[in-house]
Formats: sequence, C-alpha cells, structure tokens
Amino acid sequence: MSALRLLPHAQGNKVHNFIGGEFLPSASGETLPNLDPARNETLALIPRSNAADVQVAVQAANSARAAAWGKSSDAERADLLERIANRIEARLDDFAELESRDTGKPISLAKSVDIPRAIANFRFFAGAVRHQSTSCHPMQGALNYTLRRPVGTFGLITPWNLPLYLLSWKTAPAIAMGNAVIAKPSELTPLTATALAEVFKDVDAPAGVFNLVHGLGAEAGQAIVEHEQIQGISFTGGTMTGGRVAATAAPMFKKLSLELGGKNPTVVFADCDFETTVEGVVRAAFANQGQVCLCGSRLLIERPIYERFRDAFVERVKALKPGNPQDPATSFGSLISLGHRDKVESYAKLAIEEGGTILCGGKRPQLDGEFSEGAFFEPTVVEGLGPNSRCSTEEIFGPLVTLHPFDTEEEALEIANGVRYGLAASVWTTNLSRAHRVSERIESGMVWVNTWLLRDLRVPFGGMKDSGVGREGGRHSLEFFSESRNICIQL
Ligand code: NAD
Repeated sequence: MSALRLLPHAQGNKVHNFIGGEFLPSASGETLPNLDPARNETLALIPRSNAADVQVAVQAANSARAAAWGKSSDAERADLLERIANRIEARLDDFAELESRDTGKPISLAKSVDIPRAIANFRFFAGAVRHQSTSCHPMQGALNYTLRRPVGTFGLITPWNLPLYLLSWKTAPAIAMGNAVIAKPSELTPLTATALAEVFKDVDAPAGVFNLVHGLGAEAGQAIVEHEQIQGISFTGGTMTGGRVAATAAPMFKKLSLELGGKNPTVVFADCDFETTVEGVVRAAFANQGQVCLCGSRLLIERPIYERFRDAFVERVKALKPGNPQDPATSFGSLISLGHRDKVESYAKLAIEEGGTILCGGKRPQLDGEFSEGAFFEPTVVEGLGPNSRCSTEEIFGPLVTLHPFDTEEEALEIANGVRYGLAASVWTTNLSRAHRVSERIESGMVWVNTWLLRDLRVPFGGMKDSGVGREGGRHSLEFFSESRNICIQL
C-alpha cells in the first residue's frame, strides 16, 4: 500500500511545500520523483522549488516574526516544542514507516533510533530554553549583562541519511530561540520532513514559523543560501557542498554552521574487552548500512590481536543479511539510491586495484521479487590496503570498511589523523590512561571510548578539519541560533 496514505495532505501521489501554514505546490508547478530505493519505484512526486518558492517562504517567515511570534516568550515556545514532540510520538509508527520507505533503512532502526531521537530533540530543546540563563559580568562601578535574542530567519539544509533526526536537531533549537525557519531536506528523502510540517499544522503552530521548501540543492538550496533576508544557514551534508555553501554565505556575513563529511577511525587495542568490542565495532561500521556520518569506516587493530579480531569481526559482518527494510527482523537495508550503490561498488573495485583483499561482501546481493532492482550492497570488509590508499582516506559513506594493523600508539595516531577529516572516532581499550592519552590526541570533534554513538544532547557535536565549522548541541545550538548582546550599565 502506498506510503502516502500516511500523509493526509498529499494529493494523489503529490506532496507539497509548506509555506505560511499552507501546503502548496511549487510556483512553477514542476515536480521531482521521489524513490523507494529498496524497490526502485516511485513513492511520490515532490515540488521542484526554486527562488520564487523561497521568496514566498521568506515573506511568510518575515510576517511570522513581525507578528506574535516575534514577541513570544521562552515558555510559549517551549510549550510548542512539547506539543510537537507529543504529536510525533503519537504518530511514531507512521513516521518510522515513512523514514524506512524513503531511505531504505531498517524499520527497526527508524523506530528505535531515528524517530525517538527526533522526539527527544524537541523535548530536550523545550527544556533547554526553559532552563537557560545568560551571563552577568559585574565590574567596579558597572554591570554587564548579556541578552540572547533571535537572529531572524534560518535556512536549514539537511542530508538523506538521518532525515528527521537531523532536521529536528536544527529545527528545535532554532524555534526555541524564537527564529523562523525555512527547511530544505534532501530531495532524496522528503517524506518525514513533510510529516513534520503536518505536525506543525496539527498543533496550531503560528503560520510562517516553520516553512518547508522541497527541491534540488543547486536550485532550492542555493536560493536559500543566497537570499539576503535569510540571516543564518545551518547546513549538514558533504564537504564539497559545504564549501559551496560557505562561499556564498560567508561574504554575506550570515551565521553559518557546517556539519560535513567524515572518515572516522575505530582504534582497537589488544587489551580491549574482546567480545563487546567486536559487537560495538560492527555496529559502528555498519549501522544504517554505513551511512551515518559518525560510522567508523577505518578499523585500526593492534597487531597482537589482528588476526583473531579480524576473523571474529568478519564472521559477525557476514551475518548481516540485506533484506526488506520494512520487515521488523531486518537489520541491514538498502542504500539510499542506485547511484550511491554504484559509488560504493566502484570503491570495492578500486580496493582490489589498490592491492586490497575483500574478506566479505564487495558485491550486490541477489534479492527476489520486488527487491530485485533495489539499491542493495553487501557489507564489505577489505584488508591489505595502505592507510594512504584512496579507499582508506576518501569518504565512501556506505558499507565498506578497511582494516589496518598497527604496532604502537604513535602509529595508530598517525593513521587515525592521516586524513583531511576530523569528525568522530572510537577507541577500544581497558587501559584508562591509554584511553585518555589517545583520545586527547585524535584529531576529531568527538571521541567515544568503549562505545559508539552514545549521545548526550548537551555535549558539543561537530567536526574539525574538513568535517565542519562550529558545534551543535545544548548551549552551542542555543548560542548559534541567537544573537548574544551585551548591555553595560554605568552604576
Ligand atoms: P549533499 O552535500 O549532497 O547534500 C546535503 C544537502 O545540501 C541536500 O539537502 C542537498 O539538496 C543540499 N545541497 C546540495 N547542493 C547545494 C547547494 N549548492 N546549495 C545549498 N544546498 C545544497 O550531502 P548528502 O549526499 O545529502 O549527505 C551525505 C553527506 O552528509 C556525507 O558527506 C556525510 O558525511 C554528511 N553528513 C554529515 C553529518 C554531520 O553531522 N557532520 C551528518 C550527516 C551527514
């Protein structure tokens, strides 16, 4: 049955933009097909928006800010975020199905991670804005106090791998701080953003506070980044696209947050807790088919346990069987598109050309019936590649992991830090001193020790080097989505 039955506003197979509280087609009337990647069939037609649609959205955002929204209190906005969280929760199954159909990810993952975490994001920022405080700096004979005020209208541009999760991670703090937003989700995954727009409508959010403009990055996305009445851009996506966004936004002095690509190291020492490490490292490598920006795609293993760990790891990976993403028993779904599958496949071929050996995977699985043309690829493990090979240094963003033995901490750090990226890392050891020592020297915004993707929403989230600029999370998001203004009073 069509997934669009879960989007009440949809007309036939068409979903719409959400601007000024109304569901609207694109100004040009043009559409883009949106595919179910596991079945390679069209799920919906989405608006192919351009600068004209962005202009209408900017006007709606301006009107909202000029009206009651501009004077709303922290408590009113926190209440709105709570209502949104409750409404998504009431529709959790619908959201999970839409996310799974749109991305090809296992529905079990959407139900247990993507959607609950999106709900948590709205609840967290409701609490954060209720409990926020600002600073006061008394001087001899004078007093400084700092205000945080909304910036204006933000463009929120997001990728396809965690569609609702990442959109909510930006929308919640932007709204908590009193801004209006224009969201542009990936053209590959428009459905849960559309369901979120329905939620804004259902909970009677003021018109124009949350606007949704679908379309291509080079058209709708670029029009958002270029618009002079959009004061800030929060972007999550590829490093090359981030460079383009920065080139446009920086000379306009927009507030800019960039969460970009990664090639994250997983560093396994011989003194690790073997069984929990194997389990944790498989998850870090292949969660969401390896399509999480934080996935550990370079597995560094200390030589004394290299063979034993490799064999246990490969055995576990072989047990991950690609299958119907909507079957609750499936733990490994399809990739996001046939194009992306081809890219991952080309890296598997490159791995052989570069002298590597494929220990498992490396090819398309044979699936029957409706999944026979889907974007599936087997989880793939490669050994024997130098740490500077292309497969070991370029972001593949899929189910392909390279293995690298090392002899010393220094060598592990050299390999871990030998790429242009610096987003996340994980270190597996029972030696506490080593855990501190190594974590401190890994060049990445986030390091997990003996775990992966354990998230506290208060901590700084983001990358260094070519993985991004700025941090999200907790007070970092509240600060990014506001203007800090100091008042100094001579007493
Ligand atoms: P992408 O850069 O192709 O697209 C991201 C978004 O930007 C999409 O909505 C796209 O339509 C839009 N876009 C494209 N060109 C644009 C332009 N010129 N102006 C404005 N917007 C434009 O990335 P993707 O393929 O959707 O996502 C995968 C990438 O995202 C990977 O590199 C991954 O590492 C990264 N990612 C990073 C994080 C993080 O937190 N650092 C999280 C998830 C994904």
